[in-house]
Amino acid sequence: MQQRMLERFKKKLIKEREKLLADVNHIRNEELGKSQRDATGELSGYADHMADGGTDTIERQVSLGLMSNEEVMLLKIDGALKRIEDKTYGVCELCKEKISQERLNAVLYATYCIKCRSQEESKNNKKV
Ligand SMILES: [Zn+2]
Repeated sequence: MQQRMLERFKKKLIKEREKLLADVNHIRNEELGKSQRDATGELSGYADHMADGGTDTIERQVSLGLMSNEEVMLLKIDGALKRIEDKTYGVCELCKEKISQERLNAVLYATYCIKCRSQEESKNNKKV
């Protein structure tokens, strides 16, 4: 992808990231309020899980309810920003083809092209 386009997506990602961070902080504050009313040992376990959480365990953490959608989005955006630095942004992780800019505009942190994405989705559906 051209440097000019990368910069454009980078700006969008950073803007989206700021918006999400504000949301996450808002959620955190609400959770903090809850936990103060209901002080159990739950929170220390939560912190342990977060500490060993790499991006490859995102799905697991989501399924365990350890991460909010906003936090997952943040990790995805961080990943996209890293790919912009690596100049691999906009390249499908599976087939290494370019992801269409139309798709990237819709999903800034897309890692798969539409073809691979729908293949993955149908695979997942079969598992369930
Ligand atoms: Zn692909």
